[in-house]
Amino acid sequence: IGLSNVEDLSWKQRVNLAACINCGRCDSVCPAYASGRELSPRAIVQKLKSTYDKFNIQTEGFFSSGLITENEVWSCTNCGACVEECPAMINHVDYIIDLRRYLVAENRLEQQKTAVFSNLDQNYNAFGLPSYKRNDWLEELGVPLLEQHRNAEYLYYIGDAGAYDPRAQQVVKSFVKILQAAEVDFAIMSHQERNEGEIAKRMGEEGRFQLIAMENIATFEFYDVKKIITHDPHSFNMLKNEYPEFGGHYEVIHHTVLIHQLLEQNRLPVTTKKLEKVVFHDPCNLSRWNSIVDEPRQALSHVLDTPLLEIEQSKDRSFCCGAGGGNYWYKVPEQEKISTLRLRQLTSVNPQTIAVACPYCLMMMEDAVRTSELTVKVRDLAELVYDAMEYR
Ligand code: SF4
Ligand code: SF4
Repeated sequence: IGLSNVEDLSWKQRVNLAACINCGRCDSVCPAYASGRELSPRAIVQKLKSTYDKFNIQTEGFFSSGLITENEVWSCTNCGACVEECPAMINHVDYIIDLRRYLVAENRLEQQKTAVFSNLDQNYNAFGLPSYKRNDWLEELGVPLLEQHRNAEYLYYIGDAGAYDPRAQQVVKSFVKILQAAEVDFAIMSHQERNEGEIAKRMGEEGRFQLIAMENIATFEFYDVKKIITHDPHSFNMLKNEYPEFGGHYEVIHHTVLIHQLLEQNRLPVTTKKLEKVVFHDPCNLSRWNSIVDEPRQALSHVLDTPLLEIEQSKDRSFCCGAGGGNYWYKVPEQEKISTLRLRQLTSVNPQTIAVACPYCLMMMEDAVRTSELTVKVRDLAELVYDAMEYR
């Protein structure tokens, strides 16, 4: 399982590696490289390429020979910046996940990573909190349950962060109020909602991901789910792009896209535009992996009285918050936090508020602000839109 030896490289993987011109464009955009972590996507590609170059096939394993280290492999946030930048169209993330798969299969994992996997097994969420209490707090707010409202047009998939993290719960509340104000026909799942498997997949636990996906698909089928909305770009990416392989075909909509539609259709009572300097942080799973960059900006333009601030590292050239690829759940040696680097980029245009569209970006950026001397606010797009409705 996975990639540990030159013989594990498929012919296609070898051809792709051969295309590398060693230009270093991938390094120049890599957040892990910029933070001083032990990862250079260029070096990974060049080292893998060297194992079969010049008729000099190395038979020793990548890890056992010291060619590639475990820290290198775990340093990647799966942000896709290298893939976007590479002129040879090399997909570095595929190699890195394959290398992780080998480490997982060999059980070469320390406690932080095994804890995530056992939480997924025992509690169906990465936080390790009780699964039967998952969305209790939302039920108490009177949000309709799919069990009682089986014909709802949309399932609102809350995801782990929205279900358990107090700050992300505030985003869910704002979005629920937006849905209710626009009279959107939606329902949530209570304790039957489970983690969608993104962390397992990104951390190289493919078997566990497939099991999770198939179990979730069975539940969605039971309720005849056709349309899913979610505020979590990680869940969005999995449900939209990975579930179809297992028979799960849904119309999956990110909350920024739905909010944009509702604003365009005049279904939200926004009357007070804010005179606030706002910069938008594009989440990798939305901008780079799914090309969604315009809708969040257009939605924000409905509630702001000043043009949105833009920085160079935005849209498909965005820079990761540091949480992707399972990195939210474990630590790797680094000189500076990726979130600190990102905060510096975002605050270079002196915003009063950083708008985000992902609960993990929210948590990472708020953490970066806390450890800085800055006073910039971090708010989810749904919160900014709901604020504009409240001041009506
Ligand atoms: S950007 Fe692509 S071609 Fe350039 S060094 Fe990186 S992998 Fe090689
Ligand atoms: S996916 Fe992102 S973190 Fe991983 S190697 Fe590429 S640029 Fe670096």
